[in-house]
Amino acid sequence: MIYDAALDSLLQRVWDGGRINLDEVRRLAALPLEELGALADRRRELHRRAAHGGKGEGIITYIVDRNVNYTNICNVYCKFCAFYRTEKDADSYVITTAEMDQKIEETIALGGTQILLQGGHHPKLTKQWYLDLLSHIRAKFPGFNVHGFSPSEFVAFSEFFNEPVEQILRDFTAAGLGSVPGGGGEILVDRVRKRIAPLKADSNQWMGVMDTAHQLGLASSATMMFGHVETFDDRLEHLEFVRNQQDKSLERVRNAERGARNWGATPIEHAAAYASALEAGELKGGAFTAFICWTFQPENAVLKAPTVGSHEYLKTQALSRIYLDNFPSVQSSWVTQGLDIGQVALKYGANDLGSIMIEENVVSSAGTTFRMTVPDMQRLIRDLGYEPRQRDNWYRLVN
Ligand code: SF4
Repeated sequence: MIYDAALDSLLQRVWDGGRINLDEVRRLAALPLEELGALADRRRELHRRAAHGGKGEGIITYIVDRNVNYTNICNVYCKFCAFYRTEKDADSYVITTAEMDQKIEETIALGGTQILLQGGHHPKLTKQWYLDLLSHIRAKFPGFNVHGFSPSEFVAFSEFFNEPVEQILRDFTAAGLGSVPGGGGEILVDRVRKRIAPLKADSNQWMGVMDTAHQLGLASSATMMFGHVETFDDRLEHLEFVRNQQDKSLERVRNAERGARNWGATPIEHAAAYASALEAGELKGGAFTAFICWTFQPENAVLKAPTVGSHEYLKTQALSRIYLDNFPSVQSSWVTQGLDIGQVALKYGANDLGSIMIEENVVSSAGTTFRMTVPDMQRLIRDLGYEPRQRDNWYRLVN
């Protein structure tokens, strides 16, 4: 075999925790999957060393929450979506307060700490409807987090309410919104978005909402849905876009603190310092806490695409963990890949098994119906030799 000094040096830099560029991601993508997985696992270790009182390397977390889709009425008609309905459809709905209460009570009874609240882009729901819902939840269930509304929903709200996104975020937060999920990101490249979701927020609008949310001190997550019409380079462009935003958001948090803590010198250290501050309750947000990638579900009847299998999923997640050096956490995606691959993904860079998702409507509408319980989750984590721990949205351990 011919010795490749450049590759050797790249592998060493990845092992040591250095930053890599997109050309280097392309080089890593050609490695055998198990070698790539070992590098991603090493990066997971480096990220988690300082977490959870210095025990982060041996802990894999999960969250107990419920995915509540407050309406399925939507005027965006994404080509990959089997969930949306029009107002005329007999099975269209808007959630009632009583239904919401019941869902939250059931979630709390199962040890849940939050709801992931997302829905279709319903043009007739008023701003007051959302404010009333958030205020009601805060008053009735104090301490329970609403992780709510994807950036594309906020862009739609801005149009429906004729108000800037910033004002809506401020008012929603004052009423009870706690954090913002990264839904609707799909692939943040406009030529891709135009093909699969031409009426949805474009990539700059999506990221603009996240930037504003971070400026207001909210924590959020970033996602990538891949395996449809995008190319490998489109995925890389997506990763570059979110890494650049995270650099910007973390720098803003650091500057606002004016030297109050030691942030370290490298992006991994910046991410670790941010995660530690969140866990200690010294910060509420201001940046991305986690990255989650999942595969498009080809059972969907509208957009046809070849199935993306577990090899491609694990490779993409491993590359994401290595490239996104400024993200504290990477979440495994068992909802689209199944429990077994969700478990294996914990050896390919993920440090969190995500949510048990007491209720999930969007992926299951597209034909995928994997289910997980807390004992399942704990067993999957223990089988790998890690300690399973429940966390909240800010990665604070709750058990
Ligand atoms: S993915 Fe979301 S925005 Fe797109 S059609 Fe479905 S519900 Fe509407």
